[in-house]
Amino acid sequence: MDSVSFPYDAPVSQTLFDRASLVTPGGVNSPVRAFRAVGGTPRFMVSGTGPYLTDADGREYVDLVCSWGPMILGHAHPAVIEAVQAAVARGTSFGTPGEGEVALAEEIVARIEPVEQVRLVSSGTEATMSAIRLARGFTGRAKVVKFAGCYHGHVDALLAAAGSGVATFALPDTPGVTGAQAGDTIVLPYNDLEAVHAAFAAHPGEIACVITEASPGNMGVVPPLPGFNEGLRAACEKNGALYISDEVMTGFRTSRAGWYGIDGVKPDLMTFGKVMGGGFPAAAFGGRRDVMAHLAPAGPVYQAGTLSGNPVATAAGLAQLRLLDDAAYEKVDKVSQEIQGLVTDALTEEGVAHRLQTASNMFSVFFTGEEVRTYEDAKKQEAFRFNAFFHSMLSDGVYLPPSAFESWFVSTAHDERAIERIAAALPAAARAAAGASEVSA
Ligand code: PLP
Repeated sequence: MDSVSFPYDAPVSQTLFDRASLVTPGGVNSPVRAFRAVGGTPRFMVSGTGPYLTDADGREYVDLVCSWGPMILGHAHPAVIEAVQAAVARGTSFGTPGEGEVALAEEIVARIEPVEQVRLVSSGTEATMSAIRLARGFTGRAKVVKFAGCYHGHVDALLAAAGSGVATFALPDTPGVTGAQAGDTIVLPYNDLEAVHAAFAAHPGEIACVITEASPGNMGVVPPLPGFNEGLRAACEKNGALYISDEVMTGFRTSRAGWYGIDGVKPDLMTFGKVMGGGFPAAAFGGRRDVMAHLAPAGPVYQAGTLSGNPVATAAGLAQLRLLDDAAYEKVDKVSQEIQGLVTDALTEEGVAHRLQTASNMFSVFFTGEEVRTYEDAKKQEAFRFNAFFHSMLSDGVYLPPSAFESWFVSTAHDERAIERIAAALPAAARAAAGASEVSA
């Protein structure tokens, strides 16, 4: 660990974490929540309202994680809660088709032009896993191209050089994924079209698809260079492969139509999650009608789910999406820009080398003076400075992602009071980052 101090202890969270660690591996149900990258006690949250979370010790935080993206209207938005309560009262799962899933699918198709048909699932991982299977089934080819630092959930074949928790823990790969499962995966450096052309040349007629985060947020925010997504699209078309744009993070967040609404590059298949579930487990994959027609029961590629299109999850997602009009995105963008400005000013004031990178309203800070275009660039940052910065913000009541390799997320609920609290916490955090030093354990 490094020189970070933990200025505020959290005794109730610590007790819960101790209990959790006895019955759950590492005490958490998703690795990044354990605070291993930054050290200290993970906060157990008991409630959320608007831009705030309250932990088990009764402390309130301005939340800049927003459940890793989904809570774009803030926590416990009254309209979403009302829709959920009404849905719950009608029953929680039927295992039959229902109108809510039709309405959610219609909303997605109406917003995102390349999506002609969509299949609902329960997690982003399921969405990408199913999209890859469909691409392989459709093309009759085995190989998949992905990019280092892009995370597409914990799909076996895609856990090679993945970002997110894998980046946080610097696992190059993971035990449990066999050579056979990863053997058809080709991992290329992000933002490198030459590498893509070389891969197609080396494997003629073998590549089923290229999957990419529409604008990566899982190695920190590293947007595509101008022309990169267009180049992927063109290379796929030329070589008979499908172009899969993973919008689990960016979908319905970076604009009304996600990153597609910003760069307009048309994928064959797309994946969604997070915002479209309104805080519930709902995700989706969709795209070209002729490709989706290969999916069971219309076609031969099998895919299914007991809770797919769950009525409570679809009600939450639909309620959230219906509130996400142009004014809502303007608000989120404005809040994001204000916070970005405050962060940059505070770090500049203390002379901390940093690079604030943005993708619409998603942003993150790299503690390096250089532009970050690839996962290799991202790993060169001085993450120990982030850890000091993180703990100072936490002790002053601002909850950041507990890793230097994650996007920060804001919501329409982040009001002036929340922003003032962030502004008040930043000078001390910037000083902590400036004064941090790497001390090997
Ligand atoms: N794809 C992207 C781009 C993601 O950011 C994530 C999760 O962070 C996933 C897929 C996996 O989604 P889930 O965690 O719902 O399985």
